Amino acid sequence: MSRYFTWLLLVAFQITACGGGGGGGSGATATPPPVSFCSTQTFTDPAASPYVLPWNMGASYTMFQGNCSTLGGHKDTFAYDFDLGMGDPVFASREGQVIAVNDQFSDDDHIEGHENNVFIEHADSTVIRYTHLMQGSAEVLTGQQVVQGDLLGLAGNSGNSAGPHLHFQAFRDRSSFNKPNAIPITFSNAVGQTAASGELLEGVLYMAGG
Ligand SMILES: [Zn+2]
Repeated sequence: MSRYFTWLLLVAFQITACGGGGGGGSGATATPPPVSFCSTQTFTDPAASPYVLPWNMGASYTMFQGNCSTLGGHKDTFAYDFDLGMGDPVFASREGQVIAVNDQFSDDDHIEGHENNVFIEHADSTVIRYTHLMQGSAEVLTGQQVVQGDLLGLAGNSGNSAGPHLHFQAFRDRSSFNKPNAIPITFSNAVGQTAASGELLEGVLYMAGG
């Protein structure tokens, strides 16, 4: 347990939250990555992606703040913000093991570091964080195995967030949840216009296809 506790503290101090849909918070990091960080990454062909959109099949949400967005907490990092509403279910995008969960923070204090999260590690050591979850809504426990589509919790507005949404971010491994360790991903079932690379585009409504 102590290992996870220490790790959670690390997460709490390294967190880089969204700043919602254009508001506020710039996640402070000690050393910004080079400007080229965002342009030198490649995306997996969506047809071969192990990830699906983290909501009900047939439901649609808009991705309103994307990779390396120049404003807010996505500057110089890869992350997607989806406009899920308060209490909307969040499902596992990929099978893996839950390596950390917290859901103790209230939903509207807007304090950086008060994000409720589920972190899932996959077989290739990548990790997805599902962030800003609703207080008390986590449906999984640390150490639990999940399969794609398992209910993880409910979308909320915890931490540095201007309004309810889901911050979805992939990392190369669990060694760091700082911005430079984030990686770009695509989704195998995103129905809606994407970039040629398969990257999701800001302002586009995406349906979770079959
Ligand atoms: Zn975000």
